[in-house]
Amino acid sequence: MRLITFDAGQGGRPGVALDESTILDVDATLARAPALGQASFGSLHELIDRGPAALAAVEQLLAMAARGELDAAKVPLAEARVLAPIPRPAKNVFCVGRNYVEHIAEGARAQRIALDLPEFPVFFSKPPTAVIGPDEAIPVQIEVSTKIDYEVELAVVIGRRGRNIKASEAFDHVFGYTIINDVTARDLQRRHGGQFLKGKGLDGSCPMGPAIVTRDEIADPGQLAIRLWVNGELRQDGNTRDMIFPVAELIESLSEGLTLEPGDLLATGTPSGVGYAMSEPQFLKDGDVVACEIEGIGKLVNPVAEVGAARRIA
Ligand code: MG
Repeated sequence: MRLITFDAGQGGRPGVALDESTILDVDATLARAPALGQASFGSLHELIDRGPAALAAVEQLLAMAARGELDAAKVPLAEARVLAPIPRPAKNVFCVGRNYVEHIAEGARAQRIALDLPEFPVFFSKPPTAVIGPDEAIPVQIEVSTKIDYEVELAVVIGRRGRNIKASEAFDHVFGYTIINDVTARDLQRRHGGQFLKGKGLDGSCPMGPAIVTRDEIADPGQLAIRLWVNGELRQDGNTRDMIFPVAELIESLSEGLTLEPGDLLATGTPSGVGYAMSEPQFLKDGDVVACEIEGIGKLVNPVAEVGAARRIA
């Protein structure tokens, strides 16, 4: 199932992408199916939070829709805006740095430092204010950073609360998967002691989407082609099999003494091909278009737009 958050004039609502052009409005369909015993969700995050019974109810709605019973609750995709699936996460988005050998190697070459592979996952996070949706502009604030870079990443969406989760049970805690572009201000990342929060936490630095694909649809998250293009030029072309710490190990490590909750997001690191490590470093600029694609999940496309320093958010 491909779950989305869409806005067709009523604010963000949970939906199911039925095909390339049609959304099922989940809350509108629930109103027509009181026998399912589910109150409206209000958000995709709430749907995830309500657990397996909620997902089972949505599956029944899909069956009803397939029988043509819910046509009034179908929304043409062309009449809606697709938002980030979780537009405002309840906490920071967890991220993993340095999780693909080739990416670490290109970074070592670019910085002329020795190749040093991590013994344990390198975790950091991005604040909720960094999240933007498909087609929203990645802002380049040139007074703040002139070295904005991209990183396509598989993101895990947690579905079941847990702490000290063993790798062997990790997938019981996974709701599904989406795509995150870990947009990074390289100059800030270097300037602030080499730690990641500042350089990776700017507004708009966490494009997410377009959908959350439920776990059952991805047979093996460790066997997915993962690619990124800038203006149609293929820059990153990897496979999630090349992660140093695969998804289950990341969940085990992150959840040690730290509770993971439904709707939490974990971006799992990027393959090689980032802009700063190119032989002629390339950074994102006004007018660029970045497209991220992960096999079985979809394509996340964002333009890039320069934003002046005088522009403040009240
Ligand atoms: Mg990253």
